[in-house]
Amino acid sequence: MAKITLENLAHSYLPNPSAEDDFALKELNHDWADGEAYALLGSSGCGKSTLLNIISGLLIPSQGRVLFDGQDMTHAPTAERNIAQVFQFPVVYDTMTVRENLAFPLKNRRMPADEIARRVQKVGAMIGMEAELGRKARGLTADAKQKISLGRGMVREDVNALLFDEPLTVIDPHMKWELRTQLKKLHHDFGHTMIYVTHDQTEALTFADKVVVMYDGRVVQIGTPQELFERPAHTFVGYFIGSPGMNLFDAELAGTAATVDGARVELGRAYAARGRRVQLGVRPEFVRIGTGDAGIPARVRRVEDVGRHKIVRLEVAGREVSAIAGEGTRIPADANRITFDPEGINVYADDWRVAPEGEAA
Ligand code: ADP
Ligand code: MG
Repeated sequence: MAKITLENLAHSYLPNPSAEDDFALKELNHDWADGEAYALLGSSGCGKSTLLNIISGLLIPSQGRVLFDGQDMTHAPTAERNIAQVFQFPVVYDTMTVRENLAFPLKNRRMPADEIARRVQKVGAMIGMEAELGRKARGLTADAKQKISLGRGMVREDVNALLFDEPLTVIDPHMKWELRTQLKKLHHDFGHTMIYVTHDQTEALTFADKVVVMYDGRVVQIGTPQELFERPAHTFVGYFIGSPGMNLFDAELAGTAATVDGARVELGRAYAARGRRVQLGVRPEFVRIGTGDAGIPARVRRVEDVGRHKIVRLEVAGREVSAIAGEGTRIPADANRITFDPEGINVYADDWRVAPEGEAA
């Protein structure tokens, strides 16, 4: 197990990158703490696999260094890194049995047969394939193959890190939950450094202690699920995490208040954002719907009942805004205003969160 340090790391797939846009991975400095379970979350194409492949050694970065416990591994071959990686598209040997597939990484390392048998049995149970260990992989369904691939990543106990690149894409939701639980158990039992790549926020938030959010080749925030919910560092995090995502309102700052569509919104604190595009970010959970003259003019377009609560879709200055209302909450027929719970307001300047004056970011 190891702490993994990324130092001034960046990667371009072009031979002579010049502009920042040429980089699939923009410059990044980060420590992956030894024994921590991370989720790497972001939409398709944002650079997640690129980052993972640099850590495992499938890709040599065009800039910067990769260190394992302080030792430079940037150019070390994959085998020397002692990392288990599971890919989005399962790599399964069709002519081998499930058992042989699972045993493969251990046989390669010349582990004694009884030890191999013990671990294969255990992992077979973890992926729910005990009954199929003797079957040939050929002819198994796509989700069975993905489980085998996952199991092969879990079978070694002596690795520096476990990297999972969207490993459960074709697995049904219930089984996904089950397998994630097994991965968490594995993490609990062995304390490997784990990085789990996904574009699914629920997967990320339920798997990891820390979520690393990527957007357009950049790490925009690293935080606990709670931090990502309460204090999104970038508007993308606010919008991408949450259901529905955070609402954004163009605003002007004046002292300790803001103006949104001509209405005054008290912030209680001053923010320094001169010369930049200012927006207020408010999650639907903190939007209140009311009547009268106080607040921002709004019109209710529709109400969606989603069981535990209602999602109210409103129109504010020609744009859709979402609010979450408790199951029993009545939406007034003449609702024409929205207001915000003050603790639920974040201020953004050019898409990055600004801390109130006198408070660390
Ligand atoms: P993700 O895993 O988040 O979907 P990737 O790391 O695969 O994203 O890709 C990041 C960016 O790099 C994308 O724009 C993608 O098109 C590009 N890219 C990925 N692999 C290659 C490659 N082998 N050659 C050229 N461009 C690539
Ligand atoms: Mg990918």
